[in-house]
Amino acid sequence: MIARKDPKLAGKLWIRVRGEIEPITICAPAGKYLLNAVRTERYLDGDTLVLCMCSDDSAIRGEDRFGVQAALRKFILGIEVVDIAYHSWAGDEFSKGGWMMSHPGCFIPGAVVLRQPHGNIHFAGSDISASEAGSIEGALSSGAQAACDVSIKLAKRRPEL
Ligand SMILES: Cc1cc2nc3c(=O)[nH]c(=O)nc-3n(C[C@H](O)[C@H](O)[C@H](O)COP(=O)(O)OP(=O)(O)OC[C@H]3O[C@@H](n4cnc5c(N)ncnc54)[C@H](O)[C@@H]3O)c2cc1C
Repeated sequence: MIARKDPKLAGKLWIRVRGEIEPITICAPAGKYLLNAVRTERYLDGDTLVLCMCSDDSAIRGEDRFGVQAALRKFILGIEVVDIAYHSWAGDEFSKGGWMMSHPGCFIPGAVVLRQPHGNIHFAGSDISASEAGSIEGALSSGAQAACDVSIKLAKRRPEL
């Protein structure tokens, strides 16, 4: 993971597209498409709001309406982008990146090793979570799992009364 400079710097766009389109969820391989996750979220005044994730923030610019439209048209022919809300967390001097996102093949072996306790030290955090890694939900579930593991360990050590 370290040699491959994991994690990647991902980007997120909210796109307003013309018309109320059918609900869709699309996942596309990183490196082959500019948008790697696309999901319709809700309708707004006759249009549709679509949430998009790109695994490489530098590959797409939120200000480039026609570039984003072309990327979206790889999945939905003729779709028309009306507006885009975007902030480059990778380019933001204070965040210097967004949520954790691994290169393909890195997360499964890497996170499993990083999750292992080291003696009495237990690790928790979204980046190594077994579920929803890179999200708030991942942080919560990893924290709950670590707390559980520590409680079990402490209970086993409690002297018999
Ligand atoms: C720009 C951005 C946008 C995101 N958008 C979303 C989103 O829309 N939805 C979503 O679900 N998730 C999103 N995420 C991801 C989510 O915020 C994180 O996955 C989650 O907050 C990680 O929680 P955590 O508790 O694992 O780690 P953190 O929240 O990073 O907590 C780690 C804490 O440890 C502290 N710390 C670090 N080193 C030390 C040290 N040596 N000693 C003491 N303290 C230390 C840090 O200051 C920090 O407070 C986003 C993240 C970013 C950066």
